[in-house]
Amino acid sequence: MSIFEVKIPRRRDCQLMDMADPLRVLRHQFVLPPDTIYLDGNSLGVLPKATTARVADVVTREWGEDLITSWNKNGWFDAPRRIGDKIAQLIGAAAGEVVATDTTSINLYKVLSTAMTIAAQNSTTRRVIVSERGNFPTDLYIAQALCAERGFQLHLIDQTELTTALNSDVAVLMLTHVNYRTGFMHDMESVTAAAHHAGALTVWDLAHSAGAVPVDLHAALADFAVGCGYKYLNGGPGAPAFVWVHPQHAERFWQPLAGWWGHAAPFAFSPQYQPAAGISRFLCGTQSMLGMAALECGVDTLLAAQVHGGMAALRKKSLALSDLFIQLVEHRCGGYGLEVVTPQEHSLRGSQASFAHSKGAYAIMQALIARKVIGDFRAGAAGGTVADGEDILRFGFTPLYLGFDEVWQAVEHLRQVLESGEWKAEKFMQKLAVT
Ligand SMILES: *Cc1c(COP(=O)(O)O)cnc(C)c1O
Repeated sequence: MSIFEVKIPRRRDCQLMDMADPLRVLRHQFVLPPDTIYLDGNSLGVLPKATTARVADVVTREWGEDLITSWNKNGWFDAPRRIGDKIAQLIGAAAGEVVATDTTSINLYKVLSTAMTIAAQNSTTRRVIVSERGNFPTDLYIAQALCAERGFQLHLIDQTELTTALNSDVAVLMLTHVNYRTGFMHDMESVTAAAHHAGALTVWDLAHSAGAVPVDLHAALADFAVGCGYKYLNGGPGAPAFVWVHPQHAERFWQPLAGWWGHAAPFAFSPQYQPAAGISRFLCGTQSMLGMAALECGVDTLLAAQVHGGMAALRKKSLALSDLFIQLVEHRCGGYGLEVVTPQEHSLRGSQASFAHSKGAYAIMQALIARKVIGDFRAGAAGGTVADGEDILRFGFTPLYLGFDEVWQAVEHLRQVLESGEWKAEKFMQKLAVT
């Protein structure tokens, strides 16, 4: 079907879609600055209304009055497990299999190291970790550090080379489920099956999946997973991350950061480390309870969607939002050099839409941000494919709080920015520290 035969939604149509949207009520859980269209929940989720009072309560009452008794009395000690159980519901894991703790980078270090230990025990020849060149750099850096430490090699491939790369040297396949730049989503189940068939373990990074797309770790037979608390889980800047290990692996080895919170009896103060049962051994040290409190409020905003159909309903709306955005950009912003790099096919797309622009990606995004349409920019790495080689504008779609009319307005701003050429102003070229 050519584009001319497709009915392009008008603004009124988008407003009607909002009125008919059963998930619209979930928006009231959030503080949304007026006049701002926030398309960056994939980088930093917005503030839930409940968080402010909850964090204040942790400070003034729990810390201020109950002091150290809060570790028992106010559920501080169990917070990583309690919040982990809630996150488990979003990613197809069971209660007792997830802990909220540390950062994504640190959790990746723990699970990748554990996977390497298992592989080394099973085989004397498998010494390769396979990942994608276009993976999020921290994942690659952690893998590089572990390879240097353990005498393994990191083999970086393009997405299309996956099946051929899985040979008998591969110990671990480490992938991010949804690519942070392009929004491409792997089929976790078939990729995991291919890795297992080749004799490799899988480590999945769910940074752009948890709370964004349905994930079923058990159905996929995944081995290890980590994910981020401050993106789609709305846990706040620097929120604790999470880690999941399949129960068949959880108790096989110590994880490398064997701190006292992962001890079987931390308050026995034994000089000898003895790992806790199950996922608890993937804890290391004392966690920030302010961070935990905020993360729990964020995760609760997603659990509130369960009565409205949960992740399946959120997914349906997310795809409708990104479909609308892509369709409107193609129809209304044609001829300005924007090239969609996010797959059109639903099964291959996360909850974002990214566009390459050869010269102006940064400045166009800055001009949009000046109009309070907030997405972000990701620089291309030198000499790569579209997955890592081109500057892109990135727009995240969080169905918990985003509406169809906002999508329409965002595209209208983009059209105006492109048509007027206002992005070419000098002030939009200045690179800030965080893009
Ligand atoms: C956001 C993100 C991270 C972030 O790691 P931190 O340790 O929280 O800084 C890691 N991996 C991926 C794939 C991400 O998208």
